[in-house]
Amino acid sequence: MKNRLGTPGTVTEPSREVPVRAEVDVLVAGGGLAGVSAAVAAARGGARTLLIERNGFPGGVATAGMCCSVFNCYHTPSHELVVRGNSLEFVDRLAQCSGPGRAWHRHKGHIIYDIERGKLALTEMIEEAGAGYLLDTLVTAALVEDGRLRGVVIESKSGREAILARATVDTTGDADVAYLAGAPVRTIEELGWAKHSYCFRVGNVDVDRFVRYFSDNPEQYAPYMDVDWDFDEARRQYEETGTLLFPHGGGYEMDLIMQGVRTGEYAERVGVHSQTPALQMHAIRELGVVHIITGFCEIHGLDIAEITRAISDGKRMAFRVTEYFTKRVPGFERARVIGTADDLGIRASRWIEGELDFTAEMKSEGVRFEDAVGRGVVQRDFKKHEGPKAWGCQTFVDDTFDIPYRCLLPKGVEGLVMGAGRSVSQTNPFLLRTMALTMVTGQAAGVAAAAAASEGSTPREVSVRQVQTQLRRQGVDLG
Ligand SMILES: Cc1cc2nc3c(=O)[nH]c(=O)nc-3n(C[C@H](O)[C@H](O)[C@H](O)COP(=O)(O)OP(=O)(O)OC[C@H]3O[C@@H](n4cnc5c(N)ncnc54)[C@H](O)[C@@H]3O)c2cc1C
Repeated sequence: MKNRLGTPGTVTEPSREVPVRAEVDVLVAGGGLAGVSAAVAAARGGARTLLIERNGFPGGVATAGMCCSVFNCYHTPSHELVVRGNSLEFVDRLAQCSGPGRAWHRHKGHIIYDIERGKLALTEMIEEAGAGYLLDTLVTAALVEDGRLRGVVIESKSGREAILARATVDTTGDADVAYLAGAPVRTIEELGWAKHSYCFRVGNVDVDRFVRYFSDNPEQYAPYMDVDWDFDEARRQYEETGTLLFPHGGGYEMDLIMQGVRTGEYAERVGVHSQTPALQMHAIRELGVVHIITGFCEIHGLDIAEITRAISDGKRMAFRVTEYFTKRVPGFERARVIGTADDLGIRASRWIEGELDFTAEMKSEGVRFEDAVGRGVVQRDFKKHEGPKAWGCQTFVDDTFDIPYRCLLPKGVEGLVMGAGRSVSQTNPFLLRTMALTMVTGQAAGVAAAAAASEGSTPREVSVRQVQTQLRRQGVDLG
């Protein structure tokens, strides 16, 4: 791939022997929510499991990316609890972390939690399940023999080492292992919709005062924008849980922001970041903290030079936006930037070509599959809000859809199963990427990998019936 410096050529890396650090049943590459779900599922399925994570803590986008809010897609509008298993267990634990506790079950919107406590909660889940894990470790190469993945090469402070595994789960979110193993992949650039976001955290906020501003000026809170509700519902949730969601795109409806845009005081673009008034915000009263996702950057999510630029510009943006807020937005008078994300929030980058493509119709029409390994609530998005910059409103109906196992199986390589929702085989990588659903695909992949390892087969050969039985034992409701 070309980068800004051009491509001066290639060199041949000398081959060399590397020490084998471990030999396990199941290797999980990438410790985001999907990876933790996969590792916990595999370890509970009796497999000797090792999770490899490049950051110094688990969670990925949900911690390093500072997206501290699980989109609540667990129940149908008639309150049937559809998404269960690890996804439900994890979100209940995250919600205990200076978040809404169990009260989230009574509300729509997002389940907002404290990121620092979330990191520890995820670590404890891995440990309690009995899985091993290595942090600050990058998976850099795939060990493929006769078309079968035998393990990976890792790089860390300990040097370059190999991990051998009977089955591997790719939860890097970028399909790194599949790509390194030579499996056919697709990238978001082919679709021409690469929009990512950089998140930051502002402290010292009087959250009650911020919420009161909307109570006094309810027309400033965009109804049915992104989320299927209005301010009354958001306020009821705040009163019960102490967490408030300000919907993505809603900044375009706030006079306080748009006045700043008109006078030039509020920068609509900072470096590579544009649409900064979009402003999704997640507030936690107890901490006096608001997490902010401003706008979007259209960069190549697999080009490290472009990622570097987006992170640096993102830090500048955090201070510019916060400075404006301290002058103009009630509750932010004494606010300070108290954290910027470790990772750029990559919405989608690379995903596999598998045995079956999951499609938007499967999700919106509730198609059933014999090889279902997870379920979600059918979602049909409408544009209910008429604002000038309004976008679709995520609306659920009383129906469910199945996630077929075949979407998790890459073509061209054996021994590998995909766990991250955004990198399974699909026509559009936004269909299964939300936190709730990526934990569903992660758990399915972990169970399948453990079953393959115990049978001495591969994830493609494994009995789907056995995978489904084990998933049910682990609390998954397959309908
Ligand atoms: C800006 C933004 C806002 C979002 N908002 C919401 C929201 O409000 N609600 C919601 O439900 N969803 C939201 N999403 C979607 C959701 O947060 C993510 O899709 C989900 O958290 C992804 O989890 P994951 O485990 O699949 O992938 P990731 O979180 O990306 O995890 C991948 C992990 O693998 C590690 N890794 C990657 N490559 C390697 C390697 N080579 N070696 C070792 N480790 C590696 C990474 O460090 C990371 O920890 C948002 C996403 C973005 C980007």
